[in-house]
Amino acid sequence: MTDTPRVVIIGAGPCGLACGRELSALGHDNWTILERSSIAGGLASSIFDTQGFTWDHGGHVVFSHYGEFDRLLSEIMGDDVLHHDRSSYVRFEDRWVPYPFQNNLRHLPPEVAHECVLGLIEAQGGDPSMDFAKWMRVTFGEGITRHFMEPYNFKVWATPSERMASNWIAERVSVVDYRRALRNLILNEDEISWGPNNTFVFPATGGTGEIYRRLALRLGDHIRFGCDVVEVDPVARQLRLGDGRLEPYDTLVSTMPLDRLVQRLQGCPEKARAAAGDLEHNGVYMVGIGYAAPLQDDKSWMYFPQRHAPFYRATNFAKYSPDNVPGGEVDRYCSYMTETSYSPHKPEPRAGLEDRVEAGLRASGVIGGRPEVVSAHLVDIPYAYPVPTLKRDGALNTIQPWLMEHDILSRGRFGAWRYEMANMDHSVKMGVDAARRIVERTPEELWSL
Ligand SMILES: Cc1cc2nc3c(=O)[nH]c(=O)nc-3n(C[C@H](O)[C@H](O)[C@H](O)COP(=O)(O)OP(=O)(O)OC[C@H]3O[C@@H](n4cnc5c(N)ncnc54)[C@H](O)[C@@H]3O)c2cc1C
Repeated sequence: MTDTPRVVIIGAGPCGLACGRELSALGHDNWTILERSSIAGGLASSIFDTQGFTWDHGGHVVFSHYGEFDRLLSEIMGDDVLHHDRSSYVRFEDRWVPYPFQNNLRHLPPEVAHECVLGLIEAQGGDPSMDFAKWMRVTFGEGITRHFMEPYNFKVWATPSERMASNWIAERVSVVDYRRALRNLILNEDEISWGPNNTFVFPATGGTGEIYRRLALRLGDHIRFGCDVVEVDPVARQLRLGDGRLEPYDTLVSTMPLDRLVQRLQGCPEKARAAAGDLEHNGVYMVGIGYAAPLQDDKSWMYFPQRHAPFYRATNFAKYSPDNVPGGEVDRYCSYMTETSYSPHKPEPRAGLEDRVEAGLRASGVIGGRPEVVSAHLVDIPYAYPVPTLKRDGALNTIQPWLMEHDILSRGRFGAWRYEMANMDHSVKMGVDAARRIVERTPEELWSL
């Protein structure tokens, strides 16, 4: 390694961009991002369809656990954000139950509420060594598991819960105390402010991707678009791009999916290759439906555990920002962004999905009447959620040490492959920490094995 080692970053998503920005902030200017697509932002970029609607890659709620993300957001976006209180609901049969479902049982049909509360009282409490199926049952009891947790989680993860671990849960799932559930039920009280994202911000224009578009502009020529990394030689410390060009590096930060990185590594031990085969992910079809109907709905986003609709979540996207509909005219247009998962365990036919989604929005009471559909826009996201399976940690413990011995840091949502640290704020923090590790040799604060 020279005095100013060349850092190459694969991917201009939140993690890669934050890493580059921090390297410069630390006075280390010898770095390049290689991005295969033509825009920055990765999964957090936005899409502008031909009808004038803006979409994200599924519902992105901008909230943060880290000062580094807060500072980045305020420096890049300033006042160009809208502030929202969360107003989210679960569709159950013919009604809306405020989120979190388990804290608001009074909105359920009485016999279902009774079954859910009884189950909660009988539940003995889970521990993180259990598989997710068992953990749900012992934490929430039979009623909540059967009516909400099990069907909803299968719709999201597209993975049987017996294959999944439960050690990722922490703040991702609201765990309820039966005394509170009983109190809310009997005293007719709601509890809607649970969780880290009960308030959130959203860019006033340009969708979530506006954050990263602006950030990338600041980083200028450090980012090279249209550069698909197809091979990594960790001994020669050299990358090969899709067009055959070679790129030398001293330290590599990769934010591409870890299983793909391993496939592209020369000389990777067989046990690491086998471990990469144990990493599972789902895919998501984002289907955005734009209607010629005024925005009247006050909900932010909605969950769909049942069969009314193929999607597990719908976001009331015109409410996030008027700029998400043509001409900002929310008195003429509204828009719903939906997410439907797929995997080998849950195949979802691509053909006709836009029609099934639109019918689902009507069948589940999201949209009333039969307003004109102005846009039906589908984006296939093949790597959407890194699934925390029972085999995941063993696989990561095999792959990551080998990579790090070769000065390769695999970080970010699919680089680290850890759902519990896979949001934008986590990805940014991992990028910042990677830069500090490289330049200052300080231990990373978020990622660890
Ligand atoms: C459905 C869905 C909902 C989400 N909801 C939220 C939310 O509510 N809140 C939140 O904070 N986060 C949310 N996220 C997560 C958020 O999108 C990610 O945290 C973030 O985008 C991850 O950033 P990253 O840089 O790690 O990876 P990515 O965004 O995946 O970026 C990786 C980049 O690497 C590039 N790349 C891949 N392979 C190569 C290659 N071979 N050569 C060159 N470049 C390559 C890709 O093109 C991409 O630009 C959601 C994600 C999804 C899919």
